[in-house]
Amino acid sequence: MLIDGYGRKIDYLRVSVTERCNFRCQYCMPEKPFSWVPRENLLSFEDLFKFIKVAIDEGIKKIRITGGEPTLRHDLDKFIKMIYDYKSDIDLALTTNGYLLAESAQKLADAGLKRINISLDSLKPEVAEKIAQKDVLSNVLEGIENSLKAGLKVKINMVPLKGINDNEIVDILDFCKERGIQVRFIEYMENSYASNDIKGLNGKEILEKIKEKYVIKKIGREGSSPAFHYKLEDGYIFGLIDPHKHDFCENCNRIRLTAEGYLIPCLYFDEAMSIKEAIEAGDIQKATQIMKEVIRNKPEKNRWSEEEAQTSNRAFYETGG
Ligand code: SAM
Ligand code: SF4
Repeated sequence: MLIDGYGRKIDYLRVSVTERCNFRCQYCMPEKPFSWVPRENLLSFEDLFKFIKVAIDEGIKKIRITGGEPTLRHDLDKFIKMIYDYKSDIDLALTTNGYLLAESAQKLADAGLKRINISLDSLKPEVAEKIAQKDVLSNVLEGIENSLKAGLKVKINMVPLKGINDNEIVDILDFCKERGIQVRFIEYMENSYASNDIKGLNGKEILEKIKEKYVIKKIGREGSSPAFHYKLEDGYIFGLIDPHKHDFCENCNRIRLTAEGYLIPCLYFDEAMSIKEAIEAGDIQKATQIMKEVIRNKPEKNRWSEEEAQTSNRAFYETGG
């Protein structure tokens, strides 16, 4: 079992398989072209899997594959199958922008993927294009439908932004409700890579928009999930992730691995340690030791709640959010 310095059980690993992306969401990526990490600096799927086996053996029970855009990486289905074949009862999930899912959803499900979170910030083509800086909506919608057809358990993530998509909060909720999918509204988290022109809605403002149409009842948080759940009168449940107000650090159970092999104990802080050299040299003992050190030194709290608009230096596209 993996326990951090504050007694929290760590059993959730988020693995970013690439920091590259086919979108340029205004809240996540710099607008101008910038240089990607050279491909040779990335861990191969075989090496990532070597580490994942260790992590599972030590007590990791849930793995989420993310990015950048994880579906851009070749043979993602084979990587998923490696993990599934090693431990079929692992809670295996993927977070994606959905653009490439129309072709790949069935392959991913066949490989052993169980759950998928798809980002959907607007149902209007021009607004989706403004946010992602690319014409994306029809592909994303097809990706959602094909994921459902493939039997994947789908959740939708939306980041509401002032004056851009905040008038679509209820529309997206209704879209998900009609399909029996859970939606999670995520407060925009300030970071130094986002466009300077955007401002997010806080949790209270998001709930106010929903209350214009629905009566909502607070339910609470499920286990270590960062999402706080609410119920509509007809029983439909949605989530709200509001780190500015709610401190979910107390129950945090996660660490993150980047595509370059950095293990990150907290999304907010710059601290990280690399397992790349150890894994590439086949030194599993050393990689295990690094993982335990990272977990031992996991900070107690992030800093979004300290004061309004704290800015993180960590890129969401690098860590996978
Ligand atoms: N490309 C995939 C996607 O967009 O779903 C996976 C990676 S993305 C970094 C993971 C999640 O982080 C997405 O749901 C995205 O909306 C969210 N995200 C990115 N930047 C964010 C920010 N500044 N504040 C809040 N959520 C953010
Ligand atoms: Fe790409 Fe996801 Fe970031 Fe959008 S949120 S730029 S899709 S990594």
